[in-house]
Amino acid sequence: MPVLQSVSLSELHFRKILAVIGRLLAGIDVRDSFSREISYLRMSVTRRCGFACIYCADRKCRSVPDDELKPSEIFRIAGVLAGAGCHKVRLTGGEPLLRGDIAEICRGIRDLPGVRELALTTSGLYLSGMARELFEAGVSRVNISIDTLDPVKFEMITGKNCLRKVLTGLEAALSSGFEQVKINTVLLRGINDDAASIRALADLADRHSLDLRFIELMPAGAADFPYGEHFTAGSTVLKALPELMEIPEGAGSSGVARMYRREGRPGRIGIISPITGKFCQNCNRIRVLSDGRLRTCLLGGEEFNLRKLSEPEIAEVFRKACALRPKEHGISAGSTGFRIPMQGIGG
Ligand code: SAM
Repeated sequence: MPVLQSVSLSELHFRKILAVIGRLLAGIDVRDSFSREISYLRMSVTRRCGFACIYCADRKCRSVPDDELKPSEIFRIAGVLAGAGCHKVRLTGGEPLLRGDIAEICRGIRDLPGVRELALTTSGLYLSGMARELFEAGVSRVNISIDTLDPVKFEMITGKNCLRKVLTGLEAALSSGFEQVKINTVLLRGINDDAASIRALADLADRHSLDLRFIELMPAGAADFPYGEHFTAGSTVLKALPELMEIPEGAGSSGVARMYRREGRPGRIGIISPITGKFCQNCNRIRVLSDGRLRTCLLGGEEFNLRKLSEPEIAEVFRKACALRPKEHGISAGSTGFRIPMQGIGG
């Protein structure tokens, strides 16, 4: 009589097997029609936000629909996409830390087969009391949005007088063990694109030895936000800091940003130019909105609702959506009369 042997699988083996099952379930090519590998999932977990930034939110629109995905729905969607090759997941919003269950969401995503990196983008407003918990829940990288170090301009941009609280959040993040903490700054002509403002942020990056990335303004916010008036090219940063030296690609360069540093200084300065220096040919991102819609391109593309779908159906829609990703976005600095619903997509 054959004797049944007890097989003990280590957790690592178990996760590997689940990843293979996920891949089979998805059964898809993770490249789109232009041979771009889709390996980066950005998930918005809420449209709610403590801030109402002039370039992002519509301040007149006070009500936010009550349609956020539940943790189980987030895990189902992220699980299929991670199994299909989206190894990096970033949580965004709205403000992700406004969700009371954000640590549960992070732990669940961290444990999904196929997920190798979990990152989060935040305003920093609620970070001081939560940074350690997020780190323990599996978040390895945090991006904090800080557009200015001038408290008056900060309130004008965000609608809240709380720069100090955000800077406390930054300090909490820096002492919580994350592999990387970065600052994101959206460049706004006439508000924060002067040399003194740019230099003050660069000095902050040096003080904490971190990466600061300046991002070109994209057309979002309320219909009457004067996008054209506030747009300024990423090259403005090079004029403000002529001493910047480019870090060659591959030598510590960082995703979509061109990276620079100042001689003898520890901080690194990145410039992200989605408008004047389209990087669509290297775009590896797919986005899921807080209500379960999959979006093929931040600045356009198509949307597919995944919310009510089974895992095999999600895999099938993901395959179709990848095939339909546009070659590149059609936005230019002069684009007017068009607004991306940024607060719902999460950047
Ligand atoms: N609440 C979080 C935060 O403040 O970072 C996450 C959501 S926010 C929409 C994500 C990122 O998108 C932030 O870095 C923000 O500055 C950026 N963003 C929002 N609107 C933008 C716009 N019109 N152009 C460029 N970046 C924008």
